[in-house]
Amino acid sequence: MAPIPGSGLAKGLAVTLRTMTKKTVTAQYPDVQPELPPRTRGVIGLFEENCTVCMLCARECPDWCIYIDSHKETVPPAVEGGRERSRNVLDRFAIDFSLCMYCGICIEVCPFDALFWSPEFEYAETDIHELTHERDKLREWMWTVPAPPALDEAAEEPKELAAARKAAEKLAAEQAAAAPQPGEDPQ
Ligand code: SF4
Ligand code: SF4
Repeated sequence: MAPIPGSGLAKGLAVTLRTMTKKTVTAQYPDVQPELPPRTRGVIGLFEENCTVCMLCARECPDWCIYIDSHKETVPPAVEGGRERSRNVLDRFAIDFSLCMYCGICIEVCPFDALFWSPEFEYAETDIHELTHERDKLREWMWTVPAPPALDEAAEEPKELAAARKAAEKLAAEQAAAAPQPGEDPQ
């Protein structure tokens, strides 16, 4: 059967009208920032206070794109007569994001919670060599890492918090016991 003249135009106009009334899904980036999920793998942030230079992340990285340099430093004994100890001091921590495949293995294996995903993604460069970012930049990204979700109300208290709470309670009890009681001579 021959098509009715003008039916194609009517169909086209119907599609246009339908689309015009639908909510737009196009994000006007960069005028409007996208709403990213909290676990977005944008870039890796380094919390260097937690890093013990154990080298696990660099060893496990499948792309060998983590560069760490360090030196040893002698620390005086904690108590008189004790032994001197040595500790690693971080000199360089860099990640080459032109090689990184965002697998997250380094973050998973870090035993000291020094690496985190940040949703930050605006670090494109025109020169590939500028995609190697040093510790200062990785530290800056650390402050863009979202806070972890709140614990379930029925969840066990994390052991770090429990230890800190017990220490604070013990200190408060000691201070209360040492304080003079009402009617007691402070001498
Ligand atoms: S995310 Fe994967 S590839 Fe990237 S630095 Fe970490 S371990 Fe290496
Ligand atoms: S695994 Fe963690 S603590 Fe060890 S060197 Fe890497 S970032 Fe530092």
